[in-house]
Amino acid sequence: MLVYNSQTHAKQELEPIEPGKIRMYVCGPTVYDQIHIGNGRTFLSFDVIRRYLSYKGYQVTFAQNLTDVDDKIINRANEQGRTAEEVASEFSEAFICQMRRLNVLDPDIRPRATHEIPAMIEMIQGLIGQGNAYAVDNGDVYFSVRSCPTYGCVSGRKVDELQVGARIEENEDKRDPLDFALWKGAKPGEPSWDSPWGKGRPGWHTECSAMVHRYLGTPIDIHGGGADLIFPHHENESAQATCCWHEPLANVWMHTGMLRVDGEKMSKSLGNFFTLKEVLDKYPADAVRLLMLQTHYRSPLDFSYERLDGTVGSLDRLTGCVANLRWAADQASASDHEVTDADHALGAAVAGAREEFGRQMDDDFNTAGALAAVFGLATASNAYLDQMGGDVCTSATLRASDTLVELLGVLGIESVRPATTELPHELVTLAAEQAGYAGDDADEAAKALLAARAAARAEKDWARADAIRDGISALGLVMEDTAAGTRLKMASAGKAEA
Ligand code: AMP
Ligand code: ZN
Repeated sequence: MLVYNSQTHAKQELEPIEPGKIRMYVCGPTVYDQIHIGNGRTFLSFDVIRRYLSYKGYQVTFAQNLTDVDDKIINRANEQGRTAEEVASEFSEAFICQMRRLNVLDPDIRPRATHEIPAMIEMIQGLIGQGNAYAVDNGDVYFSVRSCPTYGCVSGRKVDELQVGARIEENEDKRDPLDFALWKGAKPGEPSWDSPWGKGRPGWHTECSAMVHRYLGTPIDIHGGGADLIFPHHENESAQATCCWHEPLANVWMHTGMLRVDGEKMSKSLGNFFTLKEVLDKYPADAVRLLMLQTHYRSPLDFSYERLDGTVGSLDRLTGCVANLRWAADQASASDHEVTDADHALGAAVAGAREEFGRQMDDDFNTAGALAAVFGLATASNAYLDQMGGDVCTSATLRASDTLVELLGVLGIESVRPATTELPHELVTLAAEQAGYAGDDADEAAKALLAARAAARAEKDWARADAIRDGISALGLVMEDTAAGTRLKMASAGKAEA
């Protein structure tokens, strides 16, 4: 399968370092506030990449850090009169909670910067020992960019061009304006740890290299993040690791395109953001996933609530299709069905959708193309149901619904799966009252009620027909007319999720 390596600007065959295994790392959030849906897009993209690699049979080890010490956290803590630790702990939990609501799988390893200080100090000592870093009097330690012959290899920037663009900073402790902090000497009121250079805390780029090395071993197969991390963050991570351990940090660097609002990158500083929490309070996670996955992960994604509303409709269409297929198969199970060309055509549509899904995902995780294959199968399935009336081929019909559920499941879209608790048992009582039903099966009771209502309508006994309908809706059910007949289903829960 092909993956796009932003380091080479080209797609390349994915060749795991260890056969059958993928080790991947995706930079996590700085936990000073709720994340916004732009951040959510990046984490969701890598969730799907990870899920698909597992689906292909790779044994995937996925690590993601929490940056729980940083200027932004310290500033937020000072504004609110709290400790940095309190702020970081609150928003680490909030991040984990929102990721789970979005059905993003937990990482296998979730290191926190504040728990990894010894590994970072060890890396910095290694860099100083090899002449790639230097400590200055105030307790800061800097990475010497010009000491790294491969500097620029991730972002494609040249050191001399960077030099021209570098701001003349007031910081006179640095030997070169290009150098960046590996360790920052403690300032009053800031969290700090003991180190060979006195009390201090790590610079932002330090943690990821140290964690990747400690938990996954370098080089790893895939290193990911949003495209805004390519420079300087990933460039610096790469330089630290390459100089310290004399190996590249990652074989493939993958970066997601930015989520935008009105053409502008969503960001905290511009104020044009929606938090993931507020969006998930209003919309089902699967609608958010569907919206995001309808754009390739490397392309920019224009977000609007109008688009998200449209996606709710698309999700309903898929859910309805799966439910109607299963229901039609259920109704038809007793009948003798003679195999027709239409059955073969549905079988071919299933096989075609599977193949196309795999082809699109194998081409650098083209979820937009993969979803087009899924929607194509839904359209073919609906057409089949319309054409066949109630006389469907059970196995072809179930294969179509199972395939829709399976392929969407690979993308982490799981609400289309039919509920296990199909119809409420109260239907039995209602059917006993309204339709003279004497059994104890909710599905049979539904049939009896629908037959009684149809009979009442045929006799123009509207009062009775309405009473049956009202009884049904009082149980939270609605009637849906399908080609295979009328069926009862749970009324849609609407946009909001509990
Ligand atoms: P941060 O906490 O700022 O480091 O961001 C966490 C992740 O979200 C990083 O991988 C960023 O690249 C990514 N990110 C930030 N803004 C956006 C955006 N508007 N669209 C997509 N990803 C973003
Ligand atoms: Zn990182």
